[in-house]
Amino acid sequence: MLSIILPVYNEESNIENTYQAIKGVLLPKGIDFELVFVNDGSKDRSFEIVRKLADTVKDAKILGLSFSRNFGKEAAIFAGLSHATGEVCAVMDCDLQHPPETLLKMYDLWEQGFEIIEGVKRSRGKENIIYKGFARLFYKLISHSTGIEMYRSSDFKMLDRKVVDEYVKLTERNIFFRALSSWLGYKSAVVEFDVKERASGTTKWSIKSLVKYAIGSICSFTTAPMQLITLSGVIFFIFAAVLGVQSIIKWAVGRSLEGFTTVILLLLIIGSLIMISLGIIGYYLARIYEEIKGRPRSIVDEIVKSQNEMIE
Ligand code: UDP
Ligand code: MG
Repeated sequence: MLSIILPVYNEESNIENTYQAIKGVLLPKGIDFELVFVNDGSKDRSFEIVRKLADTVKDAKILGLSFSRNFGKEAAIFAGLSHATGEVCAVMDCDLQHPPETLLKMYDLWEQGFEIIEGVKRSRGKENIIYKGFARLFYKLISHSTGIEMYRSSDFKMLDRKVVDEYVKLTERNIFFRALSSWLGYKSAVVEFDVKERASGTTKWSIKSLVKYAIGSICSFTTAPMQLITLSGVIFFIFAAVLGVQSIIKWAVGRSLEGFTTVILLLLIIGSLIMISLGIIGYYLARIYEEIKGRPRSIVDEIVKSQNEMIE
């Protein structure tokens, strides 16, 4: 059975269509499937629709999880993967931006023995310029520090049971699905897909949440920002050496009172560098604190299951 994990946040207008579209692709091929809807604290009727699907749908298994509040997409993916029962799991968006037809290609590759099948964006679809630029910068940073090319990567993936079992064993709270699946290793394949336009509704990301997500993901995956501090320290040390020699020479020739501007500038630059560095270290400290508290990634408030025993 194929489990499809769908994070849902205010998607009342899309859930039914997504189900129909997935069914339309998988049923003719005779692939048994389970839909795992993870309601990430939606404020609209999303979960009622999931509940209704669980009651009425006969040709697939439906599992609905509902969080007690919005915990974010990563938490939703994680919860979905830990509750999914299929021997192969796929993660896709609930807004039909990830075309269900691609599932078939992924499924083929899985049958050929690949364990991670990554959906890669052939085109990034319609996005505004700020968003595009931002995404480019974000992935540049990540690719640079991790060596994983991510600009075209997405959360659209299919994972073998083996991989899912390993993934849900990871204990970190701040988890980053997109990059971790490549960290896990395994036999992987890539499928290109075209990002469709959102079926309906609007994107759930504000610039603020994106910035937060980007910083969080970078820091959860790499300590490169901390190495940057060391690097800037080294650069300034070189400056210090040069200026030091210069000052001593000036002192020796009796002109040591000059250079007030240099002093002010140095104070300002070094002051702000120290502050920024402290901020970066503080950020990592805060993350360690978060991790050490060991709170659950999300709180599942309610679970609904379809009752049909047709597929077991
Ligand atoms: N999503 C979520 N929690 C959030 C934000 C989004 O579960 O806090 C889900 C959303 O319902 C959708 C998927 O994540 O299924 C992708 O969201 P969206 O389409 O808004 O992002 P975009 O495609 O614009 O990157
Ligand atoms: Mg989307």
